[in-house]
Amino acid sequence: MGTEPKAWYKAKLPPPTHVWQLDTDLEAAYEGMEDIGTGPRYLSHVRKGEYWAEYGGPKTNYMSFFDAYRVVDEDDIVDGRIELIGPDIPEQEPEVTYPLAMTIRIWGSELKEEQTDYALRGILMGVMWTEGWMFTGTKDTIWIRVSKAIAPKMSFKILGQAIRASVLTMCSIVEACEVRFVVATPEMGGADLIDEMLKETRPKWEAIEAKAREMVDEDVDMFYGCTLCRMIAPNHACIVTPSIVPYCGMVTYAACKSIYEMDPQGYIFEAPRGEVFDSMLGWYKGIDEAIWEKSGHRHKHFHLHSIIKYSTTN
Ligand code: SF4
Repeated sequence: MGTEPKAWYKAKLPPPTHVWQLDTDLEAAYEGMEDIGTGPRYLSHVRKGEYWAEYGGPKTNYMSFFDAYRVVDEDDIVDGRIELIGPDIPEQEPEVTYPLAMTIRIWGSELKEEQTDYALRGILMGVMWTEGWMFTGTKDTIWIRVSKAIAPKMSFKILGQAIRASVLTMCSIVEACEVRFVVATPEMGGADLIDEMLKETRPKWEAIEAKAREMVDEDVDMFYGCTLCRMIAPNHACIVTPSIVPYCGMVTYAACKSIYEMDPQGYIFEAPRGEVFDSMLGWYKGIDEAIWEKSGHRHKHFHLHSIIKYSTTN
């Protein structure tokens, strides 16, 4: 494991204002967070008037982003390092809005590039399941708030620790995690600074999307489904195909395939197309059967290409 941080961006960033080094023993992953709630019950919305600070969202014209990078060389990551450029939460004025870049580097001896999306979910749960945080959107559409109620005992060190603890414990294929936050104050360049970083990040996303577009539904016999949102909507299940991504935007067909291969008993399930009832509507026997089982016998039919009669829960 490396001991010196690597430069992540060519964009000229100010020096870090805070650097924290966590104990990397997995047993200590949540140490010091005993008075902060974690888990699905803390998935919440923080409303106007309730937030201490918000990052991204409409007031910044969505000029913020969140991304995870797989590190190939173990020596290029400093496990447990949390770096903040900009003011920490207690140093911010109440009800401020800042553009934010939240970048996470992960490494695992067997972690493959196509498994990064799987790890991304573990990372996201680290934010969403931490008491007092609201997180919506993905990539460059994020909107995050931290509540006034939790602000007195919250810092980016704790958020980074929660992210690392979540991804290492939920995705055992990830063995190291390094987190960097950039809170772009006007003095640091605000949205323009984030824009410079985004210029380096967007080509990677575009390459992934271009690769995904190469495949169409007709190329495969097996689709996939996701039931992760059952924790908030008990009968919900999405169907993901090469051409159809769920509204959350969190998984692609390729990511579902790789998640299922790693965790066949998990929240991603196989949905074979089976007999074609109506290709125009996207109505398939195999999808009907899978969704009937996975929706707790709530949905008998799904038309993947129509919202008129039997729309999906996507
Ligand atoms: S794919 Fe569907 S069930 Fe899975 S996280 Fe997204 S919206 Fe929720």
